[in-house]
Amino acid sequence: MNFGIAIHGGAGTILRSSMTPEKEKLFTDALRTALQQGYAVLEKGGSALDAVETAVRSLEDCPLFNAGKGAVFNNAGTHEMDASIMSGKDLSAGAVSLIKHVKNPVSLARAVMEKNEHVFLCGDGAEDFAKQMNLEFAGDEYFYDAFRFEQWKKAQETEGSFLDHNIETQDTRHKTQDNPNDKKFGTVGAVALDKDGNLAAATSTGGMTNKKFGRVGDSPIIGAGTYANNNTCAISCTGHGELFIRSVVAYDISALMEYKNLSLREACEEVVMKKLVKIGGEGGLIAIDKHGNIELPFNSEGMYRAMKSSGGTEKVEIYKSI
Ligand code: ASP
Repeated sequence: MNFGIAIHGGAGTILRSSMTPEKEKLFTDALRTALQQGYAVLEKGGSALDAVETAVRSLEDCPLFNAGKGAVFNNAGTHEMDASIMSGKDLSAGAVSLIKHVKNPVSLARAVMEKNEHVFLCGDGAEDFAKQMNLEFAGDEYFYDAFRFEQWKKAQETEGSFLDHNIETQDTRHKTQDNPNDKKFGTVGAVALDKDGNLAAATSTGGMTNKKFGRVGDSPIIGAGTYANNNTCAISCTGHGELFIRSVVAYDISALMEYKNLSLREACEEVVMKKLVKIGGEGGLIAIDKHGNIELPFNSEGMYRAMKSSGGTEKVEIYKSI
């Protein structure tokens, strides 16, 4: 039985020209670490669910990505994190939103899936449930990051909210404003197929810098940012959340496979390169099907991504392959 895993750390205007070799190495090392940790679970015969949770936790613990420790600041100067997880075996799912102090939101989503009768919890109630589950909490200082704080301060001057967790300098931030196509999204996610033929997907994010009014993106929404079904595939998305919600991206890929018999590649092409592009939905996704085929499509300049399959293929990539 084939098995494998794919992960992402966000898509967007990620250009080789704006990277230094040192920074590139930081990102690829972090991706490789998360990939190896997730793959090790599968290799030992562990479940796809454990593999995706492990990989996403690793990315959540890394300040480079917009999830967990690296979550961006919202308009109130705090963090509101979203996460979801889904099992393709029985279509069980868990999702959380507007989480402020849970160290690993993906594990809270998993607890919702396995230990709560509901699928989606949000805000204070979700955190109360996390306490009951004895999940680890972290104070504001854990989520504080000078770079993210600067980003937020700059975003605040304009009252805008930004999908770009990688707005690194004032200059590139202004570039982002001038050019709506110049964005980066730092959400993280993982999809996996285990030795028993079970698929799973998980996604975690801090959302948009300076977001307000309790904005929630696609990442915690089952069917939009995350989906898994053993009959078809497992998907985790990253990109402009509003457009991914409106296109029901993750479920759409599965539905094209289930009802139209499209291959994983054809379904990804249809949704990421045609449907999303038509409405200006910038971003990408990672996908694995029940045979272990992996696709990593994106319609933006780049996507932090990595995959490893039992067939021997391993990739860690950032930019468009030419
Ligand atoms: N999709 C996420 C959101 O809209 C952003 C991202 O992918 O980084 O919240």
